[in-house]
Amino acid sequence: MDMVLASGNQKKLRELADILQPLGIRLLPQSEFGVPEADETGLTFVENAIIKARNAAMHTGLPAISDDSGLEVDALKGAPGIYSARFAGPDASDADNNAELVRQLRASVSQADSTDTFSARYQCVIVFMRHAEDPVPIICQGSWEGAIHLTPQGHGGFGYDPHFFAHGAGCSAAEMSATEKHRLSHRGKALADFMAVARQRLPVR
Ligand code: IMP
Repeated sequence: MDMVLASGNQKKLRELADILQPLGIRLLPQSEFGVPEADETGLTFVENAIIKARNAAMHTGLPAISDDSGLEVDALKGAPGIYSARFAGPDASDADNNAELVRQLRASVSQADSTDTFSARYQCVIVFMRHAEDPVPIICQGSWEGAIHLTPQGHGGFGYDPHFFAHGAGCSAAEMSATEKHRLSHRGKALADFMAVARQRLPVR
């Protein structure tokens, strides 16, 4: 079964393609079809994931899968949330976003408070649509509880990983192997759920 991935992110493509391959799913990047980026105008991960999957299905005529994810920090009332990729501005790099996260967390505590650990979680929503007008998209969700440390550690992963310490892990997400991160992560959980549903509802192995 061919499926288009509604993302231009090469890391996501590689990760998802490897996982879905055993089901006989061939994942094609939307860039192969010249799909324009969708405007993520939703107010929830679910809405934005649907917007992206619908856009890819509409421009390719193929079933589409999307992933919308982000980091929620309690001390920042859930920010950066759906704005995680553009926390420091529309073209922000991971380094820009991490610097903005540290800046806002420092500003959120009083000078007398030396806290450098803040409860947080990653969220991920996976959406699959058979076609652009699919009225019953498959929607799967996963979250990963942990804490943000102001001092970064490790060079793997991407995004906020050097600052994210999952509960019980003893290291940052940027210090984990890809396999270990996938076993524990928000995206890994959402995808495991998707695979279980796909086996029941889609023509896959
Ligand atoms: P999306 O591609 O629009 O879903 O944006 C997701 C953003 O959330 C990324 O650019 C990262 O900033 C953040 N994010 C989501 N998942 C992860 C992760 O596994 N590690 C680090 N950052 C993540």
